[in-house]
Amino acid sequence: RAILTVGSPMSWGESLDHLAYVREHGVLQFIKVWENCCSMRRTDELLWGDEVEYGLLRVSESKAWVSLRGPEVREALEAAEGEHAHRSEGCLWHPEYGAWMIEGTPSRPYSGYAADLCRVERNMRLRRKRLLSFLEDDEICPTIVNFAGFGVGDFCWPPSSSTSSDNKVTHSPSVPDRAINPHPRFAALTANIRARRGGENVDARPPRFFDAKTPTNAPESIEGLDAMAYGMGCCCLQVTFQARDAREARYAYDQLAALAPVMLALTAGAPVWRGVLADTDARWDVVSASVDDRTPAERGTGVFPLDPRMAGGGNTPLPRSRYSSISRYAFECEDEGQVAQFCDVEAPIDSEAFDVLRGAGVDPALARHVAGLFARDPLVVFEGKVTQVDDDVSSDHFDNIQSTNWNTVRLKPPPPTATNATGPGWRTEFRPMEVQLTDFENAAFAVFAVLVTRVILAFDLNLYVPLSRIDANMRRAMRRDAAIKAKFFFRRQMDADQVADGFADERFDACCAPPDPDAPAVYEEMTAAEIIDGKGDYFPGLAPLAYAYLDYIGCDRDSLAQISTYVEHVRERANGKRPTPAKWIRDFIKAHPDYAHDGIVSEKIARDIAVAAHEIGVGARPAPELLGDDVVVRPITPDGAWDSREVHVAVVMLFA
Ligand code: ADP
Ligand code: MG
Ligand code: MG
Ligand code: MG
Ligand code: MG
Ligand code: MG
Repeated sequence: RAILTVGSPMSWGESLDHLAYVREHGVLQFIKVWENCCSMRRTDELLWGDEVEYGLLRVSESKAWVSLRGPEVREALEAAEGEHAHRSEGCLWHPEYGAWMIEGTPSRPYSGYAADLCRVERNMRLRRKRLLSFLEDDEICPTIVNFAGFGVGDFCWPPSSSTSSDNKVTHSPSVPDRAINPHPRFAALTANIRARRGGENVDARPPRFFDAKTPTNAPESIEGLDAMAYGMGCCCLQVTFQARDAREARYAYDQLAALAPVMLALTAGAPVWRGVLADTDARWDVVSASVDDRTPAERGTGVFPLDPRMAGGGNTPLPRSRYSSISRYAFECEDEGQVAQFCDVEAPIDSEAFDVLRGAGVDPALARHVAGLFARDPLVVFEGKVTQVDDDVSSDHFDNIQSTNWNTVRLKPPPPTATNATGPGWRTEFRPMEVQLTDFENAAFAVFAVLVTRVILAFDLNLYVPLSRIDANMRRAMRRDAAIKAKFFFRRQMDADQVADGFADERFDACCAPPDPDAPAVYEEMTAAEIIDGKGDYFPGLAPLAYAYLDYIGCDRDSLAQISTYVEHVRERANGKRPTPAKWIRDFIKAHPDYAHDGIVSEKIARDIAVAAHEIGVGARPAPELLGDDVVVRPITPDGAWDSREVHVAVVMLFA
């Protein structure tokens, strides 16, 4: 969660003298949590929740703008939720980077019953309904990754009265400051990332798609993506699971990191940037570049004078942006080294932090994980919130660093005030997925992610492959049509003998079983369809495993019927019968009468994509080309948005 501290953020220059303090105390705060919560913190209840991000747009007949009313609408929603807090089902509304964005979550996490898997879509529909109830007549709230016209011309509503003074923070000719959420944290993030880079704008360069009539001398990449908003303005779908303990959260973290590229490819929804068709389908690299705060020396593109106040002196090479896939696995194996052997990518750590963590008794794998987070500087430090923070009761400094290490997965420790009786436990957040056009699809992917996690834990599977292969998978996942065309390095045998035998008594020994040294590799290349449906007689596939798991827990028929529609949706994505949002957008553009087959997405086309997406999302426009003939989105209207009643049938526990 964004830490929306009240107060003034410091400029980068002002922060410099406080960075070391924040980093040092962030580590101490983590250690405090570890000492409080590491071994004794057990939460047998599965709790989990999703996050969906929405974009507000204003539309006319011929054009759309991002509508900068996000904060205003969010506050209205929050107030209304407060008035209806007595109802059993509700929503929470979180601020997002863009002033046109809002994030919604269920008001309370879902719990560990199979029937809870059926609550997800209903809560997502409730969110959309409530959001609709606060829109003005010409506003829409499609769940699309980004607006195709973002950054083109005057794309913000209301239009600006001033002109040149409008980008003091972004320094971008295309993105005005008012596109940034007005809470001061967000402008400070933007300014400080730019400052830490040595005063350079960020610079994302998605490859251009060369259509039949794209001039052959057009630049290879799409240009002008020089502001944080191009990336952090993207909408995604996230899922957070509570684990039984730190050990399970760390194990799930590793497994989900391996799953991340596949799920990114299957959910890809970002084929257009700044009005130009890209040769990639997914947001990841653009977001990564859009928040890349590395100095030229850290990036390896120039020199940067040593500044001992900064992490690594500001000139220690860092191979990746702080928004990235993971650099190391977090699970601690009894047989030390069995997991570490898969950690084959450069993974800089703050060695002082590592020593302090080890000195406090934190095991090597977790110490490395945390010290890796602390190889980055805090990006926003608030006046009066540095030495004043009490390390015994606050994790502000840890959260500051943690919340700006944006990885495909995040390990969330309990808050310092958590006890065994109250407060959340250790959680793992799955962050790669892109937002889908409909709640059915968002629910499908959220539910599938939960099921796969349950399958892995219950059947004692492991997806470990070398991290260098996961990096390769991330690159492949972003390519055009990766959902059906890409091959991913994936574990050949996820401990299949144990699947056959039913259940192993001991979890986690799977990862400790050394790979057969005579085998060519523990992994091989598979398409998403093979990963989902199975391959040969040795790889059962995640969908059959999900069904086996549902069968094992004795899932009730009603829940199973609904959950099956979600699993089938993921299968249809992987086998290409249903398109990703990216493919749907490409096809929409290709079929648009205004499209000149030159890769340029005009104002009108960008507007029509957003309107169609909104209409599909609210069930006002049938979309068999997206959902097939079997799935129909029931209409969502703002009527009765505040009068939900929860029909909760809790029947089957999700884990034994
Ligand atoms: P962040 O933006 O930091 O990921 P959010 O509060 O936006 O945090 O989202 C957290 C998600 O975790 C929500 O979906 C919420 O329902 C869910 N959640 C809340 N408490 C728990 C818990 N104890 N265990 C698992 N998930 C939880
Ligand atoms: Mg959130
Ligand atoms: Mg968010
Ligand atoms: Mg999140
Ligand atoms: Mg466990
Ligand atoms: Mg086992």
